[in-house]
Amino acid sequence: MIVIDEEQEHTYKSDTNPKYLAHDIARYRCRDEKALMLLASATPSLTSYYKAVSGIYTLVKMTKRYGNATLPEVIITDMHKEKGVGNTSVFSTRLASMLAKGKEEDKQAILFLNRRGYHSSISCTECGKVVECPNCSVAMTYHSYKRIEEDITADNAYEIMSGSGVLRCHYCGYQTRVPRLCNSCNNEHFEYVGFGTQKLERDIAELLPGVSTIRMDADTTTQKSSYERILGAFLNKEADVLIGTQMVTKGHNFPSVTLVGVMLADMMLYTGDYRASERTFSMLTQVIGRAGRARDKGIAVIQTNSPSDRTIQYASTQDYEEFYKNEIQIRKSYLFPPFCDIVLITVSSTDEREMNRVSDGILNTIRNKFTELNAPCMAYGPFEAPVYRYQGRYRKRIIVKCKLTSAVRTIFAEIYGDKSKYTQRTGISIDFNPNNL
Ligand SMILES: [Zn+2]
Ligand SMILES: [Zn+2]
Repeated sequence: MIVIDEEQEHTYKSDTNPKYLAHDIARYRCRDEKALMLLASATPSLTSYYKAVSGIYTLVKMTKRYGNATLPEVIITDMHKEKGVGNTSVFSTRLASMLAKGKEEDKQAILFLNRRGYHSSISCTECGKVVECPNCSVAMTYHSYKRIEEDITADNAYEIMSGSGVLRCHYCGYQTRVPRLCNSCNNEHFEYVGFGTQKLERDIAELLPGVSTIRMDADTTTQKSSYERILGAFLNKEADVLIGTQMVTKGHNFPSVTLVGVMLADMMLYTGDYRASERTFSMLTQVIGRAGRARDKGIAVIQTNSPSDRTIQYASTQDYEEFYKNEIQIRKSYLFPPFCDIVLITVSSTDEREMNRVSDGILNTIRNKFTELNAPCMAYGPFEAPVYRYQGRYRKRIIVKCKLTSAVRTIFAEIYGDKSKYTQRTGISIDFNPNNL
């Protein structure tokens, strides 16, 4: 038997060569060895759950929580309203007072902030609505005119982004200027979504000077043992509040944590990825679960600009099935997995003209081959990669929505294997159902 626990984790997909999904390898091995594959999760990926309810997999449900753990109370705070009454800090009044109270009562808290969504989207300052692609219903990603070669971090994102630029959809390549008016409330102002863990640390020091913090993210855990060291220090109550990225959501048990705050639940929703809702649901569920391990009843505060968002609502009641029912409809109507596969082809070259020629050629080949096969396909591109020029190489993308049958896989294998049409300056990469675009 091969068990894949927390099967929804994106880390099961390798984005570097060899690019593969662990599930696929497990499936093939199980077929060859006549073994059993077991996928386990409290928040399965939409694709796996779809297979389970359509009878491709066998669904086994566990209906009781382990060790009688209770669900914490979940409070959703509306950060737009907070701003409306003059609270410009990153903490809602509610969360700030709870943090202060926790300190008095010698309890600990975890503040969770997902940093991965930092640079993506812009939202209306009035109604909080994010600008979405009209074709794909995912958040449009903001690109400044300046072609950015350096990585944007959460803390410099605002400065870099605040010039005028374009919004782009990473799936179909649709591009538009930042609109003049919000299409749902006609407001004229937009803001860039996001702030980082460092800002959070600074704000807490300003607002709640008595409350000590410890931070856990990719920057503070570069050393081999730092992860354990930070967790150990927090367990020893050397800090009142643990601030962190997704790392803090993973199965730790902190008996004196009774409060969990999710700083900007929207950040995860608007990453411009079709799985944004799925990931948000899964992460929120895990974070909320952190507050339910203590002997005293826990409280989770979800801060958001979109309090009525369905994903946030379903996560707050931990209702996976309703979430699934809603989300699978969206996938179906905008044609995203599990109703198709997504193939990302990247052509990169030090020679811009050669790159253009090769990527145009690949697009033609794809159109012809799919027509020959009479297989349905939607091909987009070639369009510039989000970071167009990187380390002296220009990069363009083609995105294909299709069904990865063995005949279709052969088409891509041939394209990948045929190096006759370009020089060594150029390279091609093909990724099936990539993690991020
Ligand atoms: Zn608006
Ligand atoms: Zn689109």
